[in-house]
Amino acid sequence: PAGENLVRFAAIMNDADRAAARSGIGAVMGSKNLKAVAIRGTKGVRVADAEEFLRPLLISKHVKKADLGIALEEFGTPLFVDIMNANNAMPTKNFKEGFFDDGDLINGAEMIDKTLVRSKACFGCSLNCGRNTRLPADSPYSGRGDGPEYETIFALGSNILVNDIFAVTKMNYICNEMGIDTMDAGSTIAAIMELVELGKLSEKEIGYPVEWGDAEASMRLLEDIAMVRGFGKIAALGGRHVAEKYGAPEVFMGSKGQGFAGYHPRAMVGQGLLYATSPEGGNHTTGNTVQQEINGIPEPMDPFTAEGKAELVIRRQNETAFVECCGVCVFPYMLIEGSTQILAELYSAAVGKKYTEAEVRVLGERAFNVERLFNQKLGFNRKDDTLPKRLTQEPHNEGIGEGNVVPLDEMLDEYYRLRGWDKNGMITEKKLRELSLA
Ligand code: SF4
Repeated sequence: PAGENLVRFAAIMNDADRAAARSGIGAVMGSKNLKAVAIRGTKGVRVADAEEFLRPLLISKHVKKADLGIALEEFGTPLFVDIMNANNAMPTKNFKEGFFDDGDLINGAEMIDKTLVRSKACFGCSLNCGRNTRLPADSPYSGRGDGPEYETIFALGSNILVNDIFAVTKMNYICNEMGIDTMDAGSTIAAIMELVELGKLSEKEIGYPVEWGDAEASMRLLEDIAMVRGFGKIAALGGRHVAEKYGAPEVFMGSKGQGFAGYHPRAMVGQGLLYATSPEGGNHTTGNTVQQEINGIPEPMDPFTAEGKAELVIRRQNETAFVECCGVCVFPYMLIEGSTQILAELYSAAVGKKYTEAEVRVLGERAFNVERLFNQKLGFNRKDDTLPKRLTQEPHNEGIGEGNVVPLDEMLDEYYRLRGWDKNGMITEKKLRELSLA
């Protein structure tokens, strides 16, 4: 019901448990009275050179052999709980910290032990990174479905201090059933919990007690949000709205109104620049710097300094924009170096025209600039490429990167320069002509 009720972070659900969840596109459908889109094809999909196009098989082979590919198949995306926690990069307690003491209670191994029925692949994929799960009889909750994925585990687990995989799984089922984005749901609940802690929001206003780590209250909030009833009417407008309404805008952890994904920018500052400059706000699907800043692939990179980050972020954003235009999953692309070249060859085979790797990067750059242009026409500029002061002023907690903050302004200047935009983040006429967008 969330889309019909215009919840600002309503998702479009597909195959029961997969969601096109970010940016509130379920609410866009709801606002147009569009209930569902059903497609049944009868003619197949034609490509210009079918033989050459079979190279995805080659990609599968590379992906399966990559270390991260093997681990993803075994643990699914919840594998990232361990990777992020080990690097002090797991957002915890509304991004106050980057390490969750109880990471072992909500990670991929715990899911295998407690809830996993089988791993599962999307149609045609050989990686099987999906998780089909069930809440067992000894759990206080019931249900069966897919997930949670890592982003849900961080958003409805460590970030609100819930340390119970059964509770996180149940919240994931509720979000899927109700059609809401687990990430912005978690971001909104984290802001509510912090507002309560600060004394700016009372139990009376919410209607029931909500404290850090309270899974039962979080489940109640999720249902109230989806049904826009009681305090859910306010929370359904999103974390930024709630934080502003109760006088503490700084407790909303997101940019351009969208809550961040599960990679703590104080532990990987390039990711902070990526969130700030993403046309969609704090999203992880417009690019990701984990492979370079955390996993050190193809070569180690200091995650705490500004050096090289503008160039890295631009490359990741442009490549990811191209991947998304192709309509393929970003995981295989993330897992192997050289995948942009392989995608260029696939794309060439599909459309029947030769494109080099450099040329498809320009296609991605063009798509990214079109998104930026859309925002620009609505008045967005440098003032909107921001991060909360928790990330730019509050020092990182003890452990790896202790004391670090995100040097956003320094990175932004270089980012705009390398993008060919002006100092206010506006796309220049020269750049528009260069990309044939003028
Ligand atoms: S298509 Fe992507 S999300 Fe789906 S199983 Fe394959 S790698 Fe995982």
